[in-house]
Amino acid sequence: MEKILIVDDSRVQAAQLRSILVDEYDITIASTAEDGLHLANVGNFSLILLDVVMPGMDGFTLLKLLQEEIIVQSVPVILITSLTDEESEQRGLMLGAVDYITKPFRPGIVKARVDTHIKLYKYRKQVEYQSRTDQLTGIANRWQHDRYSLIKWKEAVRLQVPFSVCMFDIDHFKAFNDTFGHPAGDRVIATVAKIISSHLQRTTDFVARYGGEEFVAFLVGDSPEKAFAHLKKIRQAVEDRHIPHAPSVSEWVTISIGGVTMIPQAEGSYQAALKTADAMLYNAKEEGRNRVVWSDGKAGQMHETTVH
Ligand SMILES: [Mg+2]
Repeated sequence: MEKILIVDDSRVQAAQLRSILVDEYDITIASTAEDGLHLANVGNFSLILLDVVMPGMDGFTLLKLLQEEIIVQSVPVILITSLTDEESEQRGLMLGAVDYITKPFRPGIVKARVDTHIKLYKYRKQVEYQSRTDQLTGIANRWQHDRYSLIKWKEAVRLQVPFSVCMFDIDHFKAFNDTFGHPAGDRVIATVAKIISSHLQRTTDFVARYGGEEFVAFLVGDSPEKAFAHLKKIRQAVEDRHIPHAPSVSEWVTISIGGVTMIPQAEGSYQAALKTADAMLYNAKEEGRNRVVWSDGKAGQMHETTVH
């Protein structure tokens, strides 16, 4: 059931709206703009019905604040008011409200407008989800990586926290495809993606399919040693899945990983960090694959030695 937040200082009016919508929606009521702002940020709502005239902070002000919050800025807001003058309606719409309902309510119309905006919101969410998700693996795609990494990099520059970037590549993938065919290759990519992402579940972890059989991830807050240790576990987990590889190259499917941990500086760039991770991945391949090579962002490197 989609969730709707009603922000209205009048109990009677809020109850009226609730009764119109409660059969089909999960309704939460806030009686002040301050409560509304707080609930909007934590409640995962699909629509907000907002009264304009309230004591203290009014609906226009709250609407403006909601537009500034990343979490809720895409949630549609319908303004509710007895203000029938054109100027108020225009002001509300210019502030970003999707619709405007004037009192007294006609239940059928309120319901129809709410239904429409919920439908549009769900559709938009679906499109947004698809545009940032890799179809084969269900993890983030490259577009989402390019967008999100810049946001997170800037944040790490500001907070001065360790930031790790890593690149993954499935070893001898061409030989696998040549032996078992592309559909089987796709299944391996999906399985490896699942193993990697199941080990990167903290809210600050991010992993994406970078292209072909390549993945990229970033981790926030870990020391180089901790990141290196964690990535070794992921490499091991892929090997331990015992997916048979093309007999000509190796027994099981394995991955190579290159990474770097650094405290991001304003004069540095995410692209440069990614390039370092890619250079470490190259080293891992050169040293025999199925291993992790990690840079500490300065001169130091950690090399995993694996025995076959
Ligand atoms: Mg009011």
